[in-house]
Amino acid sequence: MEHLTDIEIAQKAEYQAIDEIAAKVNISTDDLEYYGTKKAKVDHRLLGRSDQADGKLILVTAISPTPAGEGKTTTSVGLADALSQEGKSTMLALREPSLGPVFGVKGGAAGGGYAQVVPMEDINLHFTGDFHAIGAANNLLAAMIDNHIHHGNELGIDSRNITWKRAVDMNDRQLRNIVDGLQGRANGVPREDGFEITVASEIMAILCLAEDLIDLKERLGRIIIGYNFAGEPVTAKDLKAEGAMTALLKDAINPNLVQTLENTPTFVHGGPFANIAHGCNTLIATKLALKQADYVVTEAGFGADLGAEKFIDIKSRIGGIQPDAVVIVATIRALKMHGGVAKADLAQENVEAMRQGSANLAHHLHTMREVFGLPAVVAINRFPTDTQAEVDALADLSQELNVPIVESNVWAEGGAGGRDLAKEVIRLADEPSAFQFAYELTDSIEEKLTKISQKIYGGRGVKLTAKARRQMKTLEQFGFQDLPICMAKTQYSLSDDAKALGAPKDFDITIRDLKVSAGAGFIVALTGNIMTMPGLPKKPAAEAIDVDQAGNISGLF
Ligand code: ADP
Ligand code: MG
Repeated sequence: MEHLTDIEIAQKAEYQAIDEIAAKVNISTDDLEYYGTKKAKVDHRLLGRSDQADGKLILVTAISPTPAGEGKTTTSVGLADALSQEGKSTMLALREPSLGPVFGVKGGAAGGGYAQVVPMEDINLHFTGDFHAIGAANNLLAAMIDNHIHHGNELGIDSRNITWKRAVDMNDRQLRNIVDGLQGRANGVPREDGFEITVASEIMAILCLAEDLIDLKERLGRIIIGYNFAGEPVTAKDLKAEGAMTALLKDAINPNLVQTLENTPTFVHGGPFANIAHGCNTLIATKLALKQADYVVTEAGFGADLGAEKFIDIKSRIGGIQPDAVVIVATIRALKMHGGVAKADLAQENVEAMRQGSANLAHHLHTMREVFGLPAVVAINRFPTDTQAEVDALADLSQELNVPIVESNVWAEGGAGGRDLAKEVIRLADEPSAFQFAYELTDSIEEKLTKISQKIYGGRGVKLTAKARRQMKTLEQFGFQDLPICMAKTQYSLSDDAKALGAPKDFDITIRDLKVSAGAGFIVALTGNIMTMPGLPKKPAAEAIDVDQAGNISGLF
């Protein structure tokens, strides 16, 4: 078969009109707002009107990612198409890609091969403008803070203690730490400032957890922008910013409807990163999909220690939902990397390294089954380079770990390559589960951090820096101790040391910063040296992206 790139395959897609896609899951044209013929926003109020019973929720997660790539989105898309092929009414709920990774190392996030959501160029670039709206709402608040200080600072905002940052959806390390308001009285008040990538901003988290417009507005009002000279929190509501911010977000709150290459209805909505934010699409999209379809496949970012943990301990808890089955995606290549093989040597057969590296898989499987009490299956996303001996070794691994391991060929074959996985998922989703969270909200902040370190990462516990300990006291003083925790940790390792692959032991997680996102409703714990504004690599993906006179884009992957 001729080898086509992701974007070439996507450009050959056979679309169904978006209102036909909507009709497949009983969404009427009255609830659609069209963005051309291939995209539509669905009125989020449909959620309040629907009295349908919820469908089954399938959570797709993975082992700790390696530069070899795992393929969670690809597997999610293929699984949804396979469930459609099995005759099930199915929806897919995914995140919107951020321009940071699109132009950086990773490329797009609309799946790959014959398991993609389309139109992939739109989804990967501006799409329906949600991220621009989120950035605008974020930066309106930033402008109102500095304007308030400029005009006399009635609230007594301490400009040395402003926690709100500006945002842009770009990997731009130059903006990480800046000084602004320079050049005298007429041009603002000089202060240290900085940017976060939009997908790490609290506005993104809020949009992804809000129930409706009123809840969105209340959450925006609760945002703490910093502290006054007395050390007390100052909120967006104190600045009277929440109404205008909500106005900017009134369309962004509506889920975006698109389709897979095989015409399965898909919501692509909201997109917080999973290492520095909570890592899953909007609660509204997930809940609406559950109302409209019998099976909903959704992806949580990075490994199960990050995306899946937050999917459960934050999103599911806030939204009152729970997964019915979990798919843990792994590749033979990535298992070999966890077993110590360098990226350059991945093409060589190495069953021993694969077995060594399976410790990482075993750990995440344990988390999903024993800590969270959920039925799980392992999907091996098959790559053309996997050897027969390596594939044969999966049978032993399945025995050892006492888990079904199913090969997935959706990248090469679309839904047809995921039928076995779909059958297993249908079976598992009917199994009883003993669902539980990793910690209780009533646990102290330090207990929550410790439980996450021990139960989810396999660590000894946590070490708080003196600064983090002071911040913890402040958060307790202002009554935020009952919020869930959003860990900001490297995705590459279960520990906070990106180089410790496999299943490291005897480590502490260093907490160096604790910050409340009072609007989102969680405490962000920054570990190790994780940063909320990434940079571009030496050779960014952007260098290979182009567009011709007819408007056809190339080089997106
Ligand atoms: P994740 O969601 O885990 O980050 P993606 O599904 O986005 O991963 O896949 C990352 C990249 O790897 C995509 O460019 C995709 O085309 C490619 N890819 C995924 N699965 C396969 C496969 N089985 N064979 C070859 N390439 C693949
Ligand atoms: Mg993905």
